Amino acid sequence: MHGAGTRRVTFTVAAALAFAGVGATAAGAATPGTATIEPAVLAAALEAATPTNTTKVVTPLKSGKYRLSSYYGPRCMPTVDASDWHLGQDLAAADGTPIYAVANGVVRKAGAVSGFGQWIVIDHVIAGKKVSTVYGHMWNATKYVKAGQTVKAGQHIADVGSNGVATGPHLHLEVWPGGYGVSSTDPLPYMKAHGVNLTAGATSAIKRTVPSSCTYYARTRLNLRVGASTGTPSEVVLPVNATLTTKPGSKSNGWLPVKYGTRSGWVDSSYVGPSKVAVPAPSKPVRYVAVTTLNLRASASTSSKVVAKLKRGAAVTYQGSVSKSGWVKVTSGGHTGYVATEYLKATKAQALYALKYVNVTTLNLRASASTSSKVVAKLKKNTAVQPQAAASKGWQKVSASGHTGYVATEYLRTTK
Ligand SMILES: [Zn+2]
Repeated sequence: MHGAGTRRVTFTVAAALAFAGVGATAAGAATPGTATIEPAVLAAALEAATPTNTTKVVTPLKSGKYRLSSYYGPRCMPTVDASDWHLGQDLAAADGTPIYAVANGVVRKAGAVSGFGQWIVIDHVIAGKKVSTVYGHMWNATKYVKAGQTVKAGQHIADVGSNGVATGPHLHLEVWPGGYGVSSTDPLPYMKAHGVNLTAGATSAIKRTVPSSCTYYARTRLNLRVGASTGTPSEVVLPVNATLTTKPGSKSNGWLPVKYGTRSGWVDSSYVGPSKVAVPAPSKPVRYVAVTTLNLRASASTSSKVVAKLKRGAAVTYQGSVSKSGWVKVTSGGHTGYVATEYLKATKAQALYALKYVNVTTLNLRASASTSSKVVAKLKKNTAVQPQAAASKGWQKVSASGHTGYVATEYLRTTK
């Protein structure tokens, strides 16, 4: 460099970056020089346009810091929404383990993406051939690098995370000869051919086998369709946890061809997973004591010990099924014991208030306790009404014939 490094080149930033292919548009170059750039910066920007040729390839995680957890190629989905044709090699490692660029190159993408949560794509020219490497699942892809920057082999570019669709912290590594999106290749032989034996550097490795079939379970009630589209007819609605089998790598545009018993069809793959889902236990029935005092007993017999005396209206929760003799195990107010179901009602109102009957030809059921309020229903003579609250000032809140409202108690009696 002449003149002790003081020489500056006048050049627009936009033009330099556009020339370097780092995001600015060519239109920016039309603007005359408005900023100066150090030659070294310009050189770096120009270098970013095309990765320089290299032969040095290094490991993406330090040897002894990872295990091989999922291989390239067809597999069973390890978790919901995971691929069943794995485009990369998974290196399981502790969360936060440093990830290194495998070769000199240019960061093409760094940031959020579906599936990986976050990813980094680096373009390289290795031994004269264009190739891209992909690193996935880090928590923050732009912590150390950003799109457009050059990186060196072994440069710390990110830390292992468990972002996106993942069962645990790992680096998902892809290798794309020809550039990202052209055609992927198995990272293990590729890296080995370039002097990096990822298998030798692993602390352990799962067995490399492709299963002959995968078993998945419906995570919800789900249509088994005749084709790979919601526009095709449903053959049957699958129950939750229906067992489905398919071949590894058969997922197509989010649809899986599956067998369900003797049937074959297609399911939306995001509604199936490799393990069964927990189905909540059916809720236990609750009933209410409909006598002044009900004995909660140690066993299902009137001769057994009284554990507690339950008051009218007390809630009891069934703990089992009702025996032929009408006893059931229940819990109530912290006690467990047996009660005779003949003294229980389905609602608290039924337990507290006996049914009454309409004693006039037509009785107005009103919106509130007043003869001027709106008539909700007209109740015929002998209609049963279920009181919902105690009578007050000649009126009572009741439900009858599917309506709830107020009636004048003088027109009710306790028998038909
Ligand atoms: Zn992976």
